[in-house]
Amino acid sequence: MFVEILNKIKEYNRIIIHRHIRPDGDCMGSQMGLKYLLKNTFPEKEIYAVGDELPEYLSELGEVDNIPDDYYNDALVIVVDTSVDKRICDDRWMTGKCIIKIDHHDDSPEFGNMSYVDEKSPACSSIIVRMIKAWGTEVKMCKKAAYALYFGIVTDTGRFRYRGLTSEVLNNAGYLLDLGIDVDSLYNKLYIDDVATLKLQGFVLNNFKTTPNGVAYIHFTKKIIKKFGVTKDEAANLVNSISTIKGHPVWVAFVDQGYEKPKGLKKGEFDPSKEVRVRLRSRGVEINGVASKYRGGGHLQAAGATIYSKQEMASLLNELDILVEKYKKEHPDAL
Ligand code: AMP
Repeated sequence: MFVEILNKIKEYNRIIIHRHIRPDGDCMGSQMGLKYLLKNTFPEKEIYAVGDELPEYLSELGEVDNIPDDYYNDALVIVVDTSVDKRICDDRWMTGKCIIKIDHHDDSPEFGNMSYVDEKSPACSSIIVRMIKAWGTEVKMCKKAAYALYFGIVTDTGRFRYRGLTSEVLNNAGYLLDLGIDVDSLYNKLYIDDVATLKLQGFVLNNFKTTPNGVAYIHFTKKIIKKFGVTKDEAANLVNSISTIKGHPVWVAFVDQGYEKPKGLKKGEFDPSKEVRVRLRSRGVEINGVASKYRGGGHLQAAGATIYSKQEMASLLNELDILVEKYKKEHPDAL
C-alpha cells in the first residue's frame, strides 16, 4: 500500500493534508510531519495542511494553510488520524480528486479511494514514520518533520507509557531522535503550564466526584471555566489529572461548550448551548463502546463523546460504572 500511496503523491502536483477536528498532538504531528517531508522531497509540488485554529501548545508545529475551494478540483487529499468522515476538519476534503486515509483507530470505517489503517499502532505519527522508512531513498527526511512526528508519538503514547507501545514505535522514535530533535523544548511545550491552568488543576483534585464502583469524573461548567480564566481546551486537557486514583480505572472530564443558542431551533434538534464534550479515559476497561452510544467513539481506553443533558450525563456515568464493576470482578488484582 505504501508504494501505491507514493505513486499517487508523485502523480499529483497539489496535495492537501487534512486531520480531525479538535486537534491533538498526534493528528498535528502526522499532518505537519507529512507536509514537511513532502515539501522537502518534492519542492516543485504544492503541499498544504488545512484545519481550524490550533491551541497554543500545538502552534509551533506549523501553520494552517488557507486555500481557495477550487484548489481541490485537481488535488490529492490525504486525511490523517481520523477514523470517521464526520470528524474530518474542513468539509472540502470530499471535493478532492483522489482521497487517501491513513489512520490508527479501532472501528475505522473506509472512506476515500485508498486507505491504510493499523488499529494496533498507538500513534498515527508512528504509521507515517513506518511509511517514510518504507519509502527509503525515494523521500528526503528533515528535522522539522522529525520534530512534528516525534511530538505525535510522544503525546499519543502518553510519553511512551500506554499499553499499545511496541518495539517498532520505540525504534521509530529513535530514528526521529537521530535526526536531531530538541527534546527539552518539546517537553517544555507539554509540561510548562500557566498559573490559571495549574489553579484549575488544584480545583480538579479537590472537587472530582466518583461513582459507587470507581469512575472518577469532573464537570467543567461554563461558570468554572470563566472563574478560572482558562479556555475550554485548557480545561479539557486536565482530564488526566484524575488518572491515577486507586480503585478508579475509568475517569472522565465533561466540558461545557458554551455555544450560543441559535434562533429558530426546531423541536427534536440538539441545542448547541447545552452541548457538553466528554473525554473518557481508562486503565484496562474498554470504554469506546459506551462513547459510541453518546455520539462518539475512539480507542479502547481513550474515547470521546458529546451529550446534551444532565440525564445523559447520569446515564453515561451509570453505564461506565457497570463496566467498572464487571471489570473489577474479572480483574480482582487491578489497581
Ligand atoms: P479526545 O478525548 O477528544 O482526545 O478523544 C479521544 C479519542 O477518541 C481520539 O482518538 C479521538 O479521535 C476519538 N474521538 C473523540 N471524539 C470522538 C467522536 N465524537 N467520534 C469518534 N471518535 C472520537
